[in-house]
Amino acid sequence: MAIKLLNHKKEDKRPDKEEYYMSIAKQIAQRSTCLKRKYGAIIVKEDNIVAAGYMGSARGTPNCIDLNKCSQNEVNKPEPYYCRAVHAELNAIINAARAGASILNGTMYLYGERIKDNKIVFGKPCKLCKRAIVNAGIIEVIVPGEKTFKRYRTEFWVKESKKDPFAELNER
Ligand SMILES: [Zn+2]
Ligand SMILES: [Zn+2]
Repeated sequence: MAIKLLNHKKEDKRPDKEEYYMSIAKQIAQRSTCLKRKYGAIIVKEDNIVAAGYMGSARGTPNCIDLNKCSQNEVNKPEPYYCRAVHAELNAIINAARAGASILNGTMYLYGERIKDNKIVFGKPCKLCKRAIVNAGIIEVIVPGEKTFKRYRTEFWVKESKKDPFAELNER
């Protein structure tokens, strides 16, 4: 089988940094193992990719795609926490720990798409990932927006939470 790589044509302009990092996060997302969505995350520090992760089950445990079943559907609750996969953001942080890479003051690029139609998922990390991202010392999370990239400062999440500690109850 021939390998498939991104096609970059001669006439294409040189991607800017955000496009460059997001396109890598998109490629990483393609390794995701859930049946519903694909997510990929990279952590960039001082303009260097120090960690990456995709949405996938705990190492050595079965994947949604192998089982052809996602427990999220089995319990009939659209809560992402019922899926057996570890979220891409968490896996990027975990993989940094495995490699002993510092991610303090880093920036996370997060890309997500729906499997049924390859449409980009616009949104920010879930509440559990947000907490882990804050504690990992990541200062900014960049996600694709409708027109341009959206940037979330993690200190803002902390401030928001102080203002309304129960706001996340309504968050998915
Ligand atoms: Zn799943
Ligand atoms: Zn999450």
